[in-house]
Amino acid sequence: MTEHFDVLVVGAGISGIGTGYHLQTRCPDRSYAILEGRSAMGGTWDLFRYPGIRSDSDMHTLGFAFEPWTDAKSIADGPSIRSYVEWTARKHGIDRHIRYGVRVRSAEWSTPDATWTVTATGPDGEDVTYSCNFLAMCAGYYDYSRGYQPDFPGADRFRGDVIHPQFWPEGLDYAGKRIVVIGSGATAVTLVPELARQAAHVTMLQRSPTYVVSRPAEDGFANWLRRRLPGRVAYGITRWKNVGLGMFFYRMARKRPDRVRGRILEMVRGHLGPDYDVDTHFTPSYAPWDQRMCLVPDADLFETIKAGSAEVVTDRIETFTEDGLRLESGRELAADVIVSATGLELQLMGGMRVSIDGEERDLAKSLNYKGMMFSDVPNLSSTFGYTNASWTLKADLTAVYVCRLLNVLRGRGLRQATPRVGTTPITPEPLLSFTSGYVQRAADRMPAQGNRKPWKLNQNYALDLLALRFGSVDADMEFSNPVEAKPGSAVEHRDKAAA
Ligand SMILES: Cc1cc2nc3c(=O)[nH]c(=O)nc-3n(C[C@H](O)[C@H](O)[C@H](O)COP(=O)(O)OP(=O)(O)OC[C@H]3O[C@@H](n4cnc5c(N)ncnc54)[C@H](O)[C@@H]3O)c2cc1C
Repeated sequence: MTEHFDVLVVGAGISGIGTGYHLQTRCPDRSYAILEGRSAMGGTWDLFRYPGIRSDSDMHTLGFAFEPWTDAKSIADGPSIRSYVEWTARKHGIDRHIRYGVRVRSAEWSTPDATWTVTATGPDGEDVTYSCNFLAMCAGYYDYSRGYQPDFPGADRFRGDVIHPQFWPEGLDYAGKRIVVIGSGATAVTLVPELARQAAHVTMLQRSPTYVVSRPAEDGFANWLRRRLPGRVAYGITRWKNVGLGMFFYRMARKRPDRVRGRILEMVRGHLGPDYDVDTHFTPSYAPWDQRMCLVPDADLFETIKAGSAEVVTDRIETFTEDGLRLESGRELAADVIVSATGLELQLMGGMRVSIDGEERDLAKSLNYKGMMFSDVPNLSSTFGYTNASWTLKADLTAVYVCRLLNVLRGRGLRQATPRVGTTPITPEPLLSFTSGYVQRAADRMPAQGNRKPWKLNQNYALDLLALRFGSVDADMEFSNPVEAKPGSAVEHRDKAAA
């Protein structure tokens, strides 16, 4: 039996829970369910269990717009974020809409029925199907089943443990061990200080450096404000303060890269002292924000390096050996455990196949509309957060926009909203401008954006807020497929009156 909902949401991470909230608040007469492939909600914040897992943006912007983050720590640990997501879902009754263990494989659109038929693997491995009129993908941006693991020469010779942070073994005892963490991204800089608390020694081995910026784990202003104002008001003010600061810093980085680079490196030198080789280990060859920056709370990474319990090595791996790694410089790194913090495997829409009226569509060949829909694909959104600010800011706007579309469709008695490029010329551009390895590796699997509105990403919360909350929904959007008039129905009366 195929169960039908007005809206199906795929994924019960931050985006899916936020979308559920907006649907039930803004479209209360529409039925919805959230299909989640795993057995728990929280997505990223449930999957990743490595020591020290935490956010690297502040929780006042990574948190839901509608549910204040009230912990003292603004840079929060993974379990606190998971609890916050679960608590929010329970408080608003969103958890009752989640179907766990349902991994969506494909979606087929039928224009005559104005319906998606969604095929999934159910909790017991069986095929299950659902149908819906609108499909809201909140499946994140990476493959849950595997992380990115380069083919390291000689990897099978190594006698110790090789671990990918996406699949951290529960209860792994690393006390007193020598650990090498391969990588220089957010995961590596999070892991190193945490592992160093118990390990004999930790080496962070990177091919090339990343910009690393320290920020207080607690936002003094936010905590001060919360003691004086109602929680919701204080949260709103802090959220806007952080949005504003983030936009300012990003703009400065793009407009005056040399000045911002100089300032960041000066701060790193301030933390590590004049004798530390900042040029080799913390000075990237690219400009600030050509790749995502790494944030460390209370300078924990720098403090650990200064204390001597961790070291950064900038070099390339020649081969794994029985006892560790040999580097191209000839240096050997002895290790009991090697952590391959080499990143994620990007994946769009949870790996789901899409077809429209019997014809399979490769969404990588389509154009992205407003950062959330696809050219010539009706009634389907895909949530993709900001790369230069907190993910949730855009996820929230996307959910609100979907609700607007649903209400416009209902108001006009139509069933289908399809982004169409139209006759105004458009030039495709890459969706993400980052030069990071994980973005470049996935470039051919991502749709393009256009060089003009509404096909060009703003990557700016204030502009998106205006465009998505208040801007026209008609720009390059085809509304079609009238609700069928059933004899005696309100639609039939309206059609007769119009005729
Ligand atoms: C370690 C780490 C730290 C991060 N830190 C930050 C940060 O500090 N700030 C920030 O802005 N961003 C951060 N991000 C990005 C982060 O993923 C987002 O902030 C946010 O959590 C994404 O939420 P989401 O709900 O969109 O996706 P996810 O959290 O990825 O959740 C997607 C959900 O969809 C489910 N799903 C996927 N495919 C299917 C399918 N086919 N069928 C059914 N269910 C499916 C998954 O099981 C999962 O539960 C981080 C990412 C990682 C990996």
